[in-house]
Amino acid sequence: MTDKIDFLIPPLDAIGSDDERFMREALKEARKAYLADEVPIGAVIVYGGRIIARGYNQVELLRDATAHAEMLCITSAENELGNWRLADCTLYCTLEPCPMCAGAMLLSRVETLVWGAPDIRHGANGSWVNLFEKPHPTHTLKIRQGILREWCEAPLKQFFKKRRGENHATNNP
Ligand SMILES: [Zn+2]
Repeated sequence: MTDKIDFLIPPLDAIGSDDERFMREALKEARKAYLADEVPIGAVIVYGGRIIARGYNQVELLRDATAHAEMLCITSAENELGNWRLADCTLYCTLEPCPMCAGAMLLSRVETLVWGAPDIRHGANGSWVNLFEKPHPTHTLKIRQGILREWCEAPLKQFFKKRRGENHATNNP
């Protein structure tokens, strides 16, 4: 069972830019994942200065390896706009996207990607591979990285530490 108070959201007076403000909202989504014992990753999509879609990792709940926060958020934004093209949209994610999600961002024509913490295992923006290294022939994604990085990293570290502890307890009753 997950302790419900050890996921910290930055206080509003620590927020200095729109990127940080929206990343804070993505962190609130990550917190929902954390409370559901999912790897704590969250995303929001912003269009015209307002959030039109939210999503958090639901791989365990849906028993689906593709149920990443960004995928669910992209589908939700497409439904909201009634269009698979997410032109002029900015996607905020607490973690560097994996190759699947990075591909979905290219296909859905997301204009800007903003991510928080690097992902050395699956990160597709340089931490593992870099899908955006070479200019795409038809679509260029603008990227800003490392927004609220420590705030985004802390719950992930906490989650895996806790899970290791639980595994240890299970293996050594
Ligand atoms: Zn992903």
